[in-house]
Amino acid sequence: MKAVVYETFSAPPRVQQLPDPAPETHGVVVKVMATGVCRSDWHGWVGHDPDIQLPHVPGHELAGIVEAVGKDVSKWKIGDRVTVPFVGGCGTCPECHSGNQQVCDRQFQPGFTHWGSFAQYVGIHQADINLVALPETLDFATAASLGCRFVTSFRAVVDQGKTSAGQWVAVHGCGGVGLSAIMIANAVGAHVIAVDISDEKLELARTLGAVATLNATRVANVAEAVIEISRGGVHVSLDALGHPTTCFNSISNLRKRGKHVQVGLMLAENSTPAIPMSKVIAHELEILGSHGMQAHRYDAMLAMLQSGKLAPEKLIGNTINLEQSIDALMNMDKFEGTGVTVITEF
Ligand SMILES: [Zn+2]
Ligand SMILES: [Zn+2]
Repeated sequence: MKAVVYETFSAPPRVQQLPDPAPETHGVVVKVMATGVCRSDWHGWVGHDPDIQLPHVPGHELAGIVEAVGKDVSKWKIGDRVTVPFVGGCGTCPECHSGNQQVCDRQFQPGFTHWGSFAQYVGIHQADINLVALPETLDFATAASLGCRFVTSFRAVVDQGKTSAGQWVAVHGCGGVGLSAIMIANAVGAHVIAVDISDEKLELARTLGAVATLNATRVANVAEAVIEISRGGVHVSLDALGHPTTCFNSISNLRKRGKHVQVGLMLAENSTPAIPMSKVIAHELEILGSHGMQAHRYDAMLAMLQSGKLAPEKLIGNTINLEQSIDALMNMDKFEGTGVTVITEF
């Protein structure tokens, strides 16, 4: 198969021919039809992820067709259209037994713990609990764009933030994660305030349902500005970027008993940000994380897609081929362009 491979961290990857994967007894091989390019692929490529062993094939936001099935798989067959959460569960640990495969004790992540989907084929373990069937009406590029940022935002807004109609929500950072969160929060009936440093991204945020936007470079104090717009602070706030400044602002702009959900990754030098802990105590704030979403929760999200309440295809920026994915990967930290880049030609 053709695949994007890197043999050294931070050195340009190359497209190479590799042997086709074979399914594990409990796994499947998926023929990749579309796969998203994500900032966490960039984090992996520069060496921020200790799970990655070289040489490595990145890619974790995939959709495709089941090509081969292991002998112990009972729910899936060749030809099924599928996607997969970026965190896969083992099926036997206490977290998996409680239905929380997204924090499995022995989790696997294609593109991190094993070779990923910047390739014609990818192996997926424990297929019975980790694959998600795609509705016939959902195209592969849109399905791939759900895989990481959209489901993480869905879990952040709906399951962790428990956002309800009429509440105020602040979203700090309007990349793929933030724009997804804005669409989802708007769909559940919340009033969304979008914060970014790019007017272009804020304009897109408005078209996706933000009722107010703030350019952080043009206000003296972002948290105070959010508190003023929301008349007392927001009920739920997301750091969708993953930066000490956006994390701090997101906690600081909450109203009493509000919830901060950390969605953007905090790695390397950003891994221990300052937190206004006196405010967390005095205002009984909650600080939560969102680490993807388990396969069995996709039904709720897919139902909102099919009813037209969510339209993730609006977040797709560019569709590219496998060769072009190398440039896209190496430049993922530059915050350029709007929307999600998806590889659709292999
Ligand atoms: Zn598990
Ligand atoms: Zn991702």
